[in-house]
Amino acid sequence: MTSDASRPAPTDEVVDLCRDLLRIDTTNTGDNDTSVGERRAAEYVAEKLAEVGVTAEIHESAPGRANVVARIAGTEPGRGALLVHGHLDVVPADADEWSVHPFSGEIRDGYLWGRGAIDMKDFDAMVLAVVRHWQRTGVRPTRDIVLAYTADEEAGSDYGAHFLAQRHRDLFDGCTEAIGEVGGFSYSVSDTQRLYLIETAEKGLDWLRLHAKGRPGHGSMVHDDNAVTALAEAVARVGRHRFPVVVTPTVRAFLEEVSDVLGIELDPDDPETAIAKLGPIANIIGATIRNTANPTRLAAGYKDNVIPGRATATIDCRSLPGQSELLEAQLRELVGPDIAIEYIQRQPALETTFDGDLVDAMSAALRAEDPGARPVPYMLSGGTDAKAFSQLGIRCFGFAPLRLPADLNFSALFHGIDERVPVDGLQFGVRVLDRFLRTC
Ligand SMILES: [Zn+2]
Repeated sequence: MTSDASRPAPTDEVVDLCRDLLRIDTTNTGDNDTSVGERRAAEYVAEKLAEVGVTAEIHESAPGRANVVARIAGTEPGRGALLVHGHLDVVPADADEWSVHPFSGEIRDGYLWGRGAIDMKDFDAMVLAVVRHWQRTGVRPTRDIVLAYTADEEAGSDYGAHFLAQRHRDLFDGCTEAIGEVGGFSYSVSDTQRLYLIETAEKGLDWLRLHAKGRPGHGSMVHDDNAVTALAEAVARVGRHRFPVVVTPTVRAFLEEVSDVLGIELDPDDPETAIAKLGPIANIIGATIRNTANPTRLAAGYKDNVIPGRATATIDCRSLPGQSELLEAQLRELVGPDIAIEYIQRQPALETTFDGDLVDAMSAALRAEDPGARPVPYMLSGGTDAKAFSQLGIRCFGFAPLRLPADLNFSALFHGIDERVPVDGLQFGVRVLDRFLRTC
């Protein structure tokens, strides 16, 4: 790809675009008064699109909570549109813990550093770079492409993707498929072979609060109805429980591919032995063979010598596709009849098949840029904006392509200290996306 002043190569421009985005602090604190950077990032994106003739609209769900949506008309309008979505917000970063300032956008040792470098301003910038290149050189996609840059993904998407999907449905008219985070990244098997994990499923989000009630009283007296004791027992039972292994079609397909490529014997009744051999990504994959329930918060009491009448705990549960009701029943059994369960978030799991033209186009684009690429489907243990867009009947994939060095612990960088993206990986992503979006 050649470059001159009026037509910078997208592989060069992506670095500047990503850097600019990283320098805009879009920290999502979970509170509208302090999550203030999204508007600036949204204006930046809209301006970069306007510069090349793409009209983008900013949709605010609350003051400052800004989402950007644009549509690029394809040459075959009869085909279903493709939604390409990325969030602009990031989780907080404590500068004292970092090797570089988290909002400096510094380039060091071949990496671009900053909060959001892989989650997910890298993809935001790649998409911008490809679209700007197309507009400058007269490339048009065959199908309509809808671009959505969202707010609030890191706090549940109420002010972002859910707001857009519920209040601005028309923006997504005709969208049949979507790509977004967390997929398309490489996992090195050897010098010549890399798995590229394409997200075809994600677990459901089942956040709940346990409520224990007891008899309030004086801390010095005999007391057999203590809410704190009852809650603590229930929380311990939930926290220590191991839910049964259930291998879904996505995880089965992933494990079969991985066993084949690594030469590991796969016992379908004992997938954990194979997963344990995966190294750093075992954390992610291991969480996709069962429902999970992790206690995350406890609250009770107001004085050292007063037994409170109530105690509450928050449990972060993640359910496998189709298992949310079963998980609820399992939890009721575990906590017992005296503890009340209240859902504070309940979003279903997603799962689609790893086949069809879109998957073929992803795989072909990866192989063209990396002859050692072996695309595989996988299930994400977390949740993304795909949950909101799938409510519109859109088939969602995680495909934000990145080629990563073999020794990089990628999963640890998500919400982690010293988040960074390899510059050449970012450029690889632009080339893959360019091919994919032209052919999909
Ligand atoms: Zn993200």
